Amino acid sequence: MDCETLLQQVLDLGAYRAAVIPMADVGFDRSFRAMCESNACGSYDKCWMCPPSVGDIDELIRQAQGFDHILVYQTVGRLEDSYDFEGMMEAARRHNLLTRELTKRFSDLPFAGKLHLGAGGCHMCSVCAKRTGEPCRHPELAIPSLEAYGINVSELAEASGMKYINGKDTVTYFGALLFSET
Ligand code: SF4
Repeated sequence: MDCETLLQQVLDLGAYRAAVIPMADVGFDRSFRAMCESNACGSYDKCWMCPPSVGDIDELIRQAQGFDHILVYQTVGRLEDSYDFEGMMEAARRHNLLTRELTKRFSDLPFAGKLHLGAGGCHMCSVCAKRTGEPCRHPELAIPSLEAYGINVSELAEASGMKYINGKDTVTYFGALLFSET
């Protein structure tokens, strides 16, 4: 399996756009951790893959920078209008289905190192086990977010030749596969 084959697989699974860039082109910003701590999304300390459980920001950045490449992918959902909450939920559901399928395929690939990062907190379970005080139910499938690793997604989109926002009445979600072939 090479980069081009993996890229084609991601597109075949339904990504709107996907691109592989060197990890060295990705910018990191440790101030994202303060944003998570402000708990604007309500997931702070409520998900095993979100801060603080996911780990120290500097350690995660160091870990991510240790990979050679990043395959960035995005999905785009069409909305009836900017208040179309059901459309947003449907787009998120389809993005999560793609993410799950990719997680399975990615785990079978013979890369020397790999890490899958997603959009927002982990969405593998309808309610994260962290909320009920239990251990993670699927540690092999659990996906931390790009932001938890200090990655600025709008800058990542630009570095990958993609738009962060894809037009009026659309919603765009991102994910990324970090890997080293040797
Ligand atoms: S796999 Fe489930 S329990 Fe584990 S972090 Fe994800 S949502 Fe939480």
